[in-house]
Order: sequence, then C-alpha cells, then structure tokens
Amino acid sequence: QGTMNGKVALVTGGSRGIGAATALRLAREGADVAITYVSGKEAAEDVVRGVEALGRRGLALRADSADAVEAGAVADRVVAEFGRLDVLVNNAGIGVLGPLESLSPADVDRVLDVNVRGVFLVSRSAVPHLGDGGRIVTIGSCMTQRVPGPGGTLYAMSKSALIGLTRALARELGDRGITANIVHPGPVDTDMNPADGPYAPPQSAMTAVGRFGAADEVASMVAYLAGGEAGYVTGAEFAVDGGHAA
Ligand code: NDP
Repeated sequence: QGTMNGKVALVTGGSRGIGAATALRLAREGADVAITYVSGKEAAEDVVRGVEALGRRGLALRADSADAVEAGAVADRVVAEFGRLDVLVNNAGIGVLGPLESLSPADVDRVLDVNVRGVFLVSRSAVPHLGDGGRIVTIGSCMTQRVPGPGGTLYAMSKSALIGLTRALARELGDRGITANIVHPGPVDTDMNPADGPYAPPQSAMTAVGRFGAADEVASMVAYLAGGEAGYVTGAEFAVDGGHAA
C-alpha cells in the first residue's frame, strides 16, 4: 500500500529528467499521474507506461506551458480524465543562459512565459480542484540561492519569481489545508544539464559533495512534500543541491 493511494498528481514537464523521475516516484507511492510535455511525445508515453507498470493510471497531455490557453486548461483536462486532482508539481522549465547583452527580448519572453507565467497559470487552473490535503510543489533552482558565475541573469530572475509565488500561495491556500513549497535542485544530471557536459566540472566543484545529483534525489523530496506527512510544511524552500548554497 503506497502513501498516496487514491490521489491524483499532475507533473508538468514529466516526459524527461526531474519531472519523469517525479512522476514515477509518485506512482510508486500510489498516485495516478498525469504529465505534460511539448515535443517529447514518445518519451511521455514511455513514462505513462512506467506509471501503468506500477499499477497506476497514467496520462500524457501535450500542453505547452508557454501557451496561456493550454497552460490554463491543463488541470481541467486531468480532472476530466481522472475525476480529481490532489497534487500539482510545477516542474516544466527552460534554461537560457548567456551574457546579458546576448539575451534578446524574445529570449526574455520565452523564459518568462514558460518558467513564470506558465507556472502561475497552471497553478491557477489546479487550485479550484484541490481540496483539503492538496499540495503544490514547485521546482525552483539553486541559482535563486547562489549564482555561481556569469550568464544566469534571465534564468535566475525567472526562478526567483517562483519563491514569491510559493509564499503567496501558502498564505492564500493555507486555510483550505493546501500547502505550497518550492524545491531548489542543484546540478542534476538531465538533458538540460548533462553530468558529462562541458559546464559540468565547475558545477560539481561548487557543491559540497563534489558531484551532480540524480533526478531521483530531487523526486524523493517532492514525494515527501506531496505526501500526507508534510501537512505542516508550507511556504518553504528546500535545497536539494549537494550543498551548492552552503
Ligand atoms: P529537461 O530539459 O531534462 O526536461 C524538461 C521537461 O520539461 C521535459 O519533459 C520537457 O518536455 C518539459 N518542457 C519544457 N518546456 C515545456 C513547456 N513549454 N511546456 C511543457 N513542458 C515543457 O529539464 P530538467 O529535468 O533538468 O529540469 C526540470 C526542472 O528543474 C526545470 O524547471 C529546471 O529549470 C529545474 N532545474 C534543473 C536543474 C538541473 O541541473 N537539471 C537545476 C535546477 C533546476 P519535452 O520532452 O516535450 O521537451
């Protein structure tokens, strides 16, 4: 018996990386899990098969967080299929790094549309469906705590907005028994940030443990925050960063 039996979770950007690991972890805890993706249809379907192999219902939805209409409708689509929604994991995000002068207005729009407006609109779509015990877990970044070098202006700005959103959601939803928290991963081995990439060694060196994290190591923190034992934890930030901010 999992700790999340009968619950329904939505993980945005669940086709790869941290989102895929989180979707599978929540299914292992007993939840039915819907994921969104934009272009990784086959990868998303693989994750759904993994959820189903754990004996849970899975659902892959193509929903671009950068599209206001799609982002605003995603929770309704989950509820239409699964009948309820208990947990939202705001994971979908993109990183555009580079010197300030190289970042165009189009880059700014794209990053803010996915990382900020998308998170706001998906959260807004989910909240009416969440009941007592509802959970919102948002994936921030270690770059909101410590920017280790140049090139992070746009990405750090976008992720920092989610800290304010999380605190405000905690205040707005606390009396309904709904919590909102944010998890800040350090360097985690994914397509976005491969552990064998050219920028990996300095990132490992910035951590206390001297290595990249695995997506599962972030998923386990999300699973705790999404679960029944975390009802008194809200409005808080959690670093899963190997000591990057230490
Ligand atoms: P990946 O690039 O490996 O995976 C991103 C996922 O998000 C994919 O499933 C992708 O779908 C989906 N996605 C991207 N854009 C959109 C969009 N517009 N709408 C819906 N889904 C979208 O990223 P990670 O797993 O590394 O990162 C996950 C989160 O963790 C992000 O918010 C990232 O900023 C954050 N993070 C990551 C760190 C790292 O070192 N990896 C460190 C700190 C934070 P598709 O397959 O369709 O492209």
